[in-house]
Amino acid sequence: MLTPLGLSPSFGFGDRLGLATPGHIAAVRGTKFAPVFAQQSVRENARTGRSPQQVIDDAKRAVEMAKWEAPWGADADHLKTIEDITAFVEAGYTFYTVDPGEYVDNAADSDPINVLNQKVAGFNLDEFSALYLNKDGDQKWGRFEADSLMRATVKYGRAIQHAVMMFNRLSQMKDSFDFEVSVDETDSPTTPLEHFFIANELNRLGVHFTSLAPRFIGHFEKGVDYIGDLNALDVELAKHAAVTSHFGSYKLSLHSGSDKFSVYPLLAKHWGDRIHVKTAGTSYLEALRVLAQYEPDLFLKIYNLGRECYESDRRTYHVSAKLEMLPKEDNLPSLLNNFHAREVLHVTFGSALAQFGAEIKSSLINHTDAYHSDLERHFRKHLSLLNK
Ligand SMILES: [Zn+2]
Repeated sequence: MLTPLGLSPSFGFGDRLGLATPGHIAAVRGTKFAPVFAQQSVRENARTGRSPQQVIDDAKRAVEMAKWEAPWGADADHLKTIEDITAFVEAGYTFYTVDPGEYVDNAADSDPINVLNQKVAGFNLDEFSALYLNKDGDQKWGRFEADSLMRATVKYGRAIQHAVMMFNRLSQMKDSFDFEVSVDETDSPTTPLEHFFIANELNRLGVHFTSLAPRFIGHFEKGVDYIGDLNALDVELAKHAAVTSHFGSYKLSLHSGSDKFSVYPLLAKHWGDRIHVKTAGTSYLEALRVLAQYEPDLFLKIYNLGRECYESDRRTYHVSAKLEMLPKEDNLPSLLNNFHAREVLHVTFGSALAQFGAEIKSSLINHTDAYHSDLERHFRKHLSLLNK
C-alpha cells in the first residue's frame, strides 16, 4: 500500500534505472524498515531523463509482481521550488523532501558583526530574543547567546521561511503526506543548537514535518563510507539526538546514506527506530558491478566515459575522488570496491545513461537474477547494521 509512513523506521531505495526494486524488496522483507521504493530528486530526473510518473510506475510494477502488501512510500526528493512540486503530486508521491539549501547563508558562521547586523535587519530579532535568550538550564545541545542567535537567524531564517511556504503550498494540494526538511547539502555543518532552532521554528510556524536532515560534521560523500573522525561524530550525534527526543515528533534523516557502514551503528545507538536513511547511487554501482562481471566491454566503455566526464559532472556533488588515483582495469568486479572508481562512476551516471542507457538496461535484464541477488546482499548489509 502506497501511503505516508509517519514515524516508522524507514529506508529509501533510490533506483535510477527502474530495475532495482525486486532486489530492494528481497532485502527489506522481514526487517523493521518501511521502504521507500520510489525516491528521486529533481536533479536525478534531469540526469536520467525519467519523469516522476515513470519512477513511481516502475516501483509500482515491481511491488505488484512481488506481492508486497505492506506500506511503502514514494519520495519526491530535494524539491527546491513550488514548480517542482506539481508533477510529484500528480503522480501520487507520499513523501515530500524540501531542500531550502539555496537560502541557507553559510557565511553567517564567520561574518563580521557589521555584516551580520545588516543581514539580520529583515528579521524580527526582538521576537527571536524573547523566544531563545535567557532560558533557564543548560540543554545538551547548548544555549543561545545574542551572537549565536543572530548567526542562526541569518544562516537559517530564510531557509525556514522557504520550507514553511513549500509546506503550506503542499497542504493545499494534498491531505496527508510525509514532509521532510533537508539542509544536508549545504557547505557548513548544522550545529545541534541550530538543529534545535530549525525544528523549533518549523513547529512554531505550523509545519508538520516527519523528518529532518541536518548537515553533519565530516564528509558524507556519494557511494563511499564516512570520511571524518567517528568519535567526534558520535559526540555530535548524541547532541542532535537530544534535540530530536526533546521534540519527539520527527525522525532523523540521513541523506547520502549509501555505504555509510561505519555510521549506521551510531544512528541505531542514538535514534533507535526514529530514523530515515536515503540511498540511491549504490544501487547503480551494484548494477555496474554486475556489468563488470558479465559485460566487461560495456563496463569499460562506461568507465572510460566516467573518466572523461568526471570533472564536469562532479560539480553539483560532494566528492573528492582523483582521476590520477583510479585503479587499473585488470581486476574488474573488485574495481567497484575502490573509493576513487566508485565516486567517479557514481557522479557520472547521467552521462553514462545518456550514452549507453539502452545497452545498460538490456544487459541488466539479461542478468536480472545476478543483479537482484547482488542488491539483496548489499542492502541486507545496510539494514542489519542499522538494526544493531
Ligand atoms: Zn540529500
